[in-house]
Amino acid sequence: MDSGRRQFLGRWGAVVTGVAAPFALPGQAFPQSHTHPDLEAGATTTAPDPQSGSGTRTGSGHERFMWLAIAQARRNPKWPFGAVIVGTRGGEVLGSGVNTGADSPLLHGEVVAMNDYVRRQGNQGWADTTLYTTGEPCSMCMSALAWANVRRVVWASSIDEIRSTDIIQIDLTAREVAAAARSFYTPQLLLGGVLAEHTNHLFREAQRLRERFPDASAV
Ligand SMILES: [Zn+2]
Repeated sequence: MDSGRRQFLGRWGAVVTGVAAPFALPGQAFPQSHTHPDLEAGATTTAPDPQSGSGTRTGSGHERFMWLAIAQARRNPKWPFGAVIVGTRGGEVLGSGVNTGADSPLLHGEVVAMNDYVRRQGNQGWADTTLYTTGEPCSMCMSALAWANVRRVVWASSIDEIRSTDIIQIDLTAREVAAAARSFYTPQLLLGGVLAEHTNHLFREAQRLRERFPDASAV
């Protein structure tokens, strides 16, 4: 295992159960009867974005913010895990970041974005935010999101796609972590697959870069 792979131990949580295209859910996607947060494929709504992800001239609200996460990801071409945290109501970007695992094994894109959020906003207001990330949060990051009470999490690439690019991971899905935290954490939205066709390409390109330049910096 090279250093790049080691530093990404645990980066990925596991399976995304197939939401191929972005879609929106109403604010309370997980009624109390749900013991395992999940999504119902094909659900739609026309409420404003990013709370709902409804359409804009640049695509769905979710897509618009995922592009921002992708822009972050492009800052680390070999490990393109980028994330942004936006205000669920107003859509303002409150924090952002890209994986800097070369500096610390804790610094996955989501954690970097959360640290940026704290620097800019203080440790407050999490429940009114939505995090967008280019890949499904790993168990570490999903736990952090649950602890912070980030109630809406949207990701792009599925675990299967990430695995196919030779990145290792702990076998816990983001949804499984969220369900295990149910005593204190009630997510409103856990959505995968938004712009995955683009991030899948990004991850495949990253794999090729790692293969071609295995001794170069991880970032
Ligand atoms: Zn992570």
